[in-house]
Amino acid sequence: MKVAVVGCGVAGLAAALALGRRGHEVVILEAFDAPQPLGSGLLLQPSGLAALRVLGLADEMLARGARIERLEGFDLAGRAMMRMAYATWRGGAFGLGVHRAALFGVLFGAVERAGIEVCTGARVTSFDNLERPTLTDAAGRSHGPFDLVVVADGSASELRSRLRPRSRAPVYPWGAVWANAVVVDEGFAGALRQRYHLASMMAGVLPIGRAPGSDADLVSVFWSLPVADMDSFFTGDFAVWKSRVLGVWPEIEPLVAQFGGPRAFSRAIYRDVSVGRWSAGAFVLIGDAAHGTSPQLGQGANLGLIDAVELAARVASPADLPRYQRARRRQTGPYQLFSRTLTPLFQSAGPWGPFVRNTLFAPLSQAPGLDRIAAHVLTGTFRLDRTPPDLRP
Ligand SMILES: Cc1cc2nc3c(=O)[nH]c(=O)nc-3n(C[C@H](O)[C@H](O)[C@H](O)COP(=O)(O)OP(=O)(O)OC[C@H]3O[C@@H](n4cnc5c(N)ncnc54)[C@H](O)[C@@H]3O)c2cc1C
Repeated sequence: MKVAVVGCGVAGLAAALALGRRGHEVVILEAFDAPQPLGSGLLLQPSGLAALRVLGLADEMLARGARIERLEGFDLAGRAMMRMAYATWRGGAFGLGVHRAALFGVLFGAVERAGIEVCTGARVTSFDNLERPTLTDAAGRSHGPFDLVVVADGSASELRSRLRPRSRAPVYPWGAVWANAVVVDEGFAGALRQRYHLASMMAGVLPIGRAPGSDADLVSVFWSLPVADMDSFFTGDFAVWKSRVLGVWPEIEPLVAQFGGPRAFSRAIYRDVSVGRWSAGAFVLIGDAAHGTSPQLGQGANLGLIDAVELAARVASPADLPRYQRARRRQTGPYQLFSRTLTPLFQSAGPWGPFVRNTLFAPLSQAPGLDRIAAHVLTGTFRLDRTPPDLRP
């Protein structure tokens, strides 16, 4: 097939690679003038690592990331509100904290080596028909016609509302700001650590290994903010924000001291994407464009990687798209539901979120038996059982 992949993010790059390997003629159309990753760090789960293994890229990624053995979240009184270990799922299992630029570099390098064409400065805005579409970008250039169009243009997808006018993607009321700091000691190694004050403050530290071309080990530092307060964070007095965060978590002072001001941070907002069918004619939505959600469970990039590998394995023509969606929805549906349910327990203003978290979520997720289910969800392997054997981590 002649395939267009719209969007050069994690899902789009992986899909282009996986489809190219199956012998399809692929071109990537990307809005940015130069392809680039946004944001600072993310956590790859055993599921995402399995997808990278299928693409032959796991070892390259492992060499650049930082192994994460567990997730820990404490309130100000030192009570564990979240405690999950990858080993509860399977002995020796781990997640991998990675710099976004490192993940992007590994995928983009493979796309270049595969000789896949990347057409930049091509923000796709319209198409002429659903069955064998020619795409038009914002500069008026035409691309195509194509037999398959993989729409991987992220949670704010422009094409989604044209393809599925009844889809919705409201912005979550809370987002986060992220920045990278150089590791100063081993105190933050091996775990994603979070500290909460009620649910109105969530600060976290995630080891992410190294940025491309650097030999400094890094951590991502983040804290949550209502979307309505983001502008005042970026224009306001950084010392005030700093003291607020250090009041919750004084131990991160050596990391926060590395940030000269708000410009060190990336702004992150999330959308809760609801689409009926992911496909229409020759088009299919994948990644955040299809099922974007809050990153509370750290799954978005992992789900996008699996989408890509599964799409290439299951789809030989657009007629296969509904079957592909049925298979993927088994997994993405519960993850969207869990994220939607859990996010207010960790990011919200009122008393109810933290109350439910402290009295229900924390004890239940750590109870024997239920801790195994929680670990299964964490690893990104929940309902991954019907995937082809090579994708089972
Ligand atoms: C703060 C934060 C933390 C996160 N942490 C994690 C984590 O720990 N683990 C995890 O798995 N996930 C995490 N995620 C989620 C993860 O980042 C996303 O799920 C993932 O990046 C989505 O990839 P994507 O390729 O679908 O979309 P994107 O990465 O958004 O890529 C979309 C691409 O499409 C391009 N584009 C947009 N519109 C057009 C157009 N019209 N034409 C052409 N190109 C276009 C964009 O320029 C972009 O390059 C986190 C997200 C946030 C915000």
